[in-house]
Amino acid sequence: MINILFAAGDDAWAQYKAPLRRAFEAAEVAADLHRDHAAIDTDYIILGPGGPVSDFTPYTRCKAVLNLWAGVEKIIKNETLTQPLCRMVDPSLTDAMVEWVVGHTLRHHLGMDAHIRGQDGIWRDDMYPPIAADRPVTILGMGALGAACGQALHQLGFPVTGWSRSPKNIPNIRCLHGDEGLNDALSDAQILILLLPLTVQTENTMNAARLALLAQGAFIINPGRGPLIDDAALLAGLDAGQIAHATLDVFRVEPLPQDHAFWAHPQITVTPHIAATTRPGTAAQVIAQNISGHETGAPLQHLVDRGRGY
Ligand code: NAP
Repeated sequence: MINILFAAGDDAWAQYKAPLRRAFEAAEVAADLHRDHAAIDTDYIILGPGGPVSDFTPYTRCKAVLNLWAGVEKIIKNETLTQPLCRMVDPSLTDAMVEWVVGHTLRHHLGMDAHIRGQDGIWRDDMYPPIAADRPVTILGMGALGAACGQALHQLGFPVTGWSRSPKNIPNIRCLHGDEGLNDALSDAQILILLLPLTVQTENTMNAARLALLAQGAFIINPGRGPLIDDAALLAGLDAGQIAHATLDVFRVEPLPQDHAFWAHPQITVTPHIAATTRPGTAAQVIAQNISGHETGAPLQHLVDRGRGY
């Protein structure tokens, strides 16, 4: 029997208990899934917010910690967590991110606000949006989420450039990488989508100088992490007209304080970190398959590289 500790809050337990038990059964993992295994008896930890474990030192038998969330920037700061850490790559979370990114991209591309908000009785039939082929999109971050969003936007006809740390060859996407590729990736992009993890290297990637490389009147869509953008530079870029609009799902402080300038800014859309959440049904299968594989000698999937920070 494999002892699996579910270390997350009450709400998560209510959502995940049944899907996890079903998934372990389907993956033929003889799992004893509980919230109160003794540290010394625990083989795996499923980790989420609101859980009881902050000191991982006593979990000497634990073979891996499986995170319920994709972003790991807070957890990797815990120096007691020395066990292998897997982040979440959930196909339903990916689908949700693709839908959110495509929706907000099309909103800006088609100029939907002018018609949704401007119902003033005036028949303006002389302005047509460009077609997607004339709207270059750049995605920073070509991982599980960035690559999937890039494929969906390519299907709609957008010319897509993707940027990552290491070189990539992804069909239908112009792939650039490293510091040397960033300026090219940003130059003349009309829509910029941020799907980088938050690390020491990626904080403030979009500073004033890099915002200035985008096409005049560019749109920014950030479902990655708030600190990827220098907030003051973004506000200056919006006020100068260099940036037409920013749709932001993530912030330096969450929940975004009620008196924050972003809420009232006419060219900023705030969404409350809802772009894509982990879905218990599919995430449970991902976890069960990862544990099942590891128990039969396969390497753990979606391992976090602590040196890189993601
Ligand atoms: P991932 O698979 O780890 O991909 C990360 C991508 O960023 C990779 O392509 C990586 O390059 C690139 N990257 C990392 N550091 C870089 C650097 N210094 N320079 C250039 N590229 C760099 O992550 P993911 O699953 O796609 O998720 C991305 C992020 O989305 C998460 O970390 C999280 O912050 C955010 N997220 C947000 C929500 C939401 O609801 N708003 C939901 C889920 C996730 P390599 O490919 O070369 O490694």
